[in-house]
Amino acid sequence: MREIIYIITAIAMYFCGLNVNNEVILQSSIQQIENVELGTFFISKNGTKFVFREKDKKSLNIVLDYLDDLPVQVKQGVKEIHFEDKNENIAGVTKGNVITLYDYAAYNSSTQRHILYHEIGHTYANELNRVNNFNFDQYIENVKNDGNYISDYSKSKIKENNNYSEDFADAFSMYFREKNILRRKHKNRHEYIESLVYESY
Ligand SMILES: [Zn+2]
Repeated sequence: MREIIYIITAIAMYFCGLNVNNEVILQSSIQQIENVELGTFFISKNGTKFVFREKDKKSLNIVLDYLDDLPVQVKQGVKEIHFEDKNENIAGVTKGNVITLYDYAAYNSSTQRHILYHEIGHTYANELNRVNNFNFDQYIENVKNDGNYISDYSKSKIKENNNYSEDFADAFSMYFREKNILRRKHKNRHEYIESLVYESY
């Protein structure tokens, strides 16, 4: 009896899902729904899987819009993007090729774009690394030639443990948001990222 109720609930959830997601392709099957939190949906677009709940749909649509503005080759490393509730002061996290965004809709639009592109910068670096197409020391050389910091955040990471990956993510984000400022203030980073994006593939 309990199983029958469970199956009916699962079927009901499945069809509810179809209703609220009629503008996107719902990939969940009943079997998948059993394994995830009820009310979690998936869509796939250009090889990236998006994992979200009903309340994340606004964030999802913003992210899909901003992704459209990036060239295909820099998005190849993005396997999944997850949407989650607020997590202290963390806006986004990238692990390998999986990005998680926290309370994304709460930020203003320019910050949203920066958060997303910063995380894509990490997945892009990871993907270049994976296909052996990335000489990160060369990037660090360019940072040193610029002779400045790109943000307080990356400055703290470089000073703490000589970590330049946040610098790269910020420069990548700036390249796609404020290319002229990057070119003017951080000339060597600009040239390096441009050559990566348009010559490496
Ligand atoms: Zn980062």
